[in-house]
Amino acid sequence: MAISSSRTTTFTPQRKTTSMCQHQPPCPSADSSDREAAHPVAHHPEQGWSLLCNGVLLFEDTGELLPDGQVIAPHRPQAVASVA
Ligand SMILES: [Zn+2]
Repeated sequence: MAISSSRTTTFTPQRKTTSMCQHQPPCPSADSSDREAAHPVAHHPEQGWSLLCNGVLLFEDTGELLPDGQVIAPHRPQAVASVA
């Protein structure tokens, strides 16, 4: 009986960990009102979002998705609509 070597390449998504930040001084945490000041670790302008090192997902329209699932509504008026 051959034992199939179950070599599963497990891709671990960067979920739940809020301490991705390795900056000095450390960036504001996700529950701080300064959270947007954290450094972006992934930037996807074509999709309209960036992931900050404190785990916050920052959207182009200034909306935010916090690591704990909390959604922050966009807080910057879209006065300047750049019509290309
Ligand atoms: Zn950081």
